[in-house]
Amino acid sequence: SAALTAAGVRDWLQRFATAVDEHAGELTDLDRPIGDSDHGVNLQRGTHAVLAALDAADPATPGAALVKAGSTLVSTVGGASGPLFGTLLRRTGKALGDADPVDAAALAAGLRAGLDAVTALGGAQVGEATLVDALAPAVEALEAGGSAQEAAGAAERGAASTDDLVARKGRASYLGERGIGHRDPGAVSIALLFAALAGSTAE
Ligand code: ADP
Ligand code: MG
Ligand code: MG
Repeated sequence: SAALTAAGVRDWLQRFATAVDEHAGELTDLDRPIGDSDHGVNLQRGTHAVLAALDAADPATPGAALVKAGSTLVSTVGGASGPLFGTLLRRTGKALGDADPVDAAALAAGLRAGLDAVTALGGAQVGEATLVDALAPAVEALEAGGSAQEAAGAAERGAASTDDLVARKGRASYLGERGIGHRDPGAVSIALLFAALAGSTAE
């Protein structure tokens, strides 16, 4: 897969924003029975703010672009997803340092640091019906040398795995066993993030 530049990060997040717009209704529907019906609109607000911030700041390196994007998500999204997605991107960006371009191995290592920061912040491990169930297998796929497309597939399967899980973190945990049979919206969004990466690095 192609090495990532600052422009490549912008293309990735532009594709993510487009996917979030296309799936906003679905994300909100997933958040209705187990949450508060705002996941789609939360991420839409955040991704549009990210694109505006990247255009204004025009960061020079992929790491700086991801730090800017993450900070913008934290400051513009009120829900749980803002700090979590924001921490993922910001911590990944910090781990990339000044590397330019970023190769596949460095991106995998950066995203591992991002995943670790997300689990430290939210306290969720795999199997607790959160976005971690999509993020962890996607990062593992990249660490194993898989393509972004393979990571996106792993994230999708991880999101589907939340159907049968009892949520232990976030609003969905208030439902206990009644949450079984519902897919976690944040895990679906993470699958969109990796699908966007695959789209952006394929060309
Ligand atoms: P809120 O729940 O505050 O309304 P969103 O609806 O935007 O925020 O995001 C909900 C998503 O956040 C969930 O689907 C889940 O994936 C994720 N989430 C919530 N709490 C946690 C946590 N502690 N750790 C990891 N992910 C979490
Ligand atoms: Mg919600
Ligand atoms: Mg909310």
